[in-house]
Amino acid sequence: MTNKTIPLADLRYASRVPHIPARLDAPTGLLADTLGRPLRDLRISVTDRCNFRCSYCMPSEVFNKDYAFLPQTSLLSFEEITRLAKIFVAHGVEKIRLTGGEPLLRKNLEVLIEMLAKLQTPEGRPLDITLTTNASLLARKAQALKDAGLQRVTVSLDGLDDAVFRRMNDVDFPVADVLGGIEAAQKVGLAPVKINMVVKRGTNDSEILPMARHFRNTGTVLRFIEYMDVGATNGWRMDEVLPSAQVIERINAEFPLLPITANYAGETAERWRYVDGGGEVGVISSVTKAFCGDCNRARLSTEGKLFLCLFASQGHDLRALLRGNYGDDQLSAAVGHIWQARTDRYSEQRAALPADTSQPESSGKRVEMSYIGG
Ligand code: SAM
Ligand code: SF4
Ligand code: SF4
Repeated sequence: MTNKTIPLADLRYASRVPHIPARLDAPTGLLADTLGRPLRDLRISVTDRCNFRCSYCMPSEVFNKDYAFLPQTSLLSFEEITRLAKIFVAHGVEKIRLTGGEPLLRKNLEVLIEMLAKLQTPEGRPLDITLTTNASLLARKAQALKDAGLQRVTVSLDGLDDAVFRRMNDVDFPVADVLGGIEAAQKVGLAPVKINMVVKRGTNDSEILPMARHFRNTGTVLRFIEYMDVGATNGWRMDEVLPSAQVIERINAEFPLLPITANYAGETAERWRYVDGGGEVGVISSVTKAFCGDCNRARLSTEGKLFLCLFASQGHDLRALLRGNYGDDQLSAAVGHIWQARTDRYSEQRAALPADTSQPESSGKRVEMSYIGG
């Protein structure tokens, strides 16, 4: 038997079994947390595994052959995910994003998409269902995903230069295959394709302009994400964060940009358009410009723990209820109770600290992004 290593910082097992309120109030779709924030966006991680080892997310020194990924029996089944999703939708969720790990590694994912696509908001509207992927398997799966009811995809791509990209994914994966995946997604109508680039100063910031040049006039939306201090394994340092304002400055110097208004409240990206009509770009300034005030996102981990913030150190074990003898009304009341008690605003708290402090004192150890999903 191999001796599996579980890092000391492994918090996957830190969770509490939710309290079931004595009064089982029916969902109203108008749930609000302690800061008045509604629940609109549910991110579901369908696997904690990935075929890439991006240094900012799953560094290969930690996520190596000895790393103990979750066993198959721990994962929520598609039926369990759909049962929970239905409850979240009744509470106001309008958008579901499938993520991971690499979601396309989950077998028969299109079956789950088909099940989720049947859900409707209380007003009878279809859900907005999307997926974030590294696109390594997208060319092969795009058509089946579209046929199952997926509307859009977001592709993560950290550079166009093949050597830089291979270094970023740390498994020697060629950039041409990701570009092929994006093309396939566009061809089958998974549009508009959004492209997310995590910018690490000194590692791939040289790729900002080549990426902007490449994706202008293609109908895609390129977004630059500030490298975040998520998880406990990526060795995050503030000096590796390139503020979004500088990203915009660099692009604007070559292709003038103008700001445009958000599509909806709580949108994470600030949007800009090319003055010459070449399309739009966005920046997600999670570090330099906290947007907790509008944060309407909940995250469901691969094994059914509910996290109320990307930086949370503890989840709420919904799987324990799913696999216990509880009805939907009890599960629904528990979810409502959890959201109503939510106080999380990590990024705002960090932003309020002096520049030489990197993390709010009150914040504990944090789970990995590959586990709760981005
Ligand atoms: N494997 C899929 C992918 O890469 O698109 C989905 C999961 S990944 C965790 C979701 C998103 O999180 C990706 O866009 C990734 O770039 C982003 N991400 C991961 N670690 C990050 C970090 N430290 N800072 C900023 N974004 C990060
Ligand atoms: Fe995998 Fe996505 Fe994390 Fe990269 S960012 S290691 S592709 S889960
Ligand atoms: Fe939302 Fe937490 Fe990010 Fe703030 S830090 S925007 S509360 S996920």
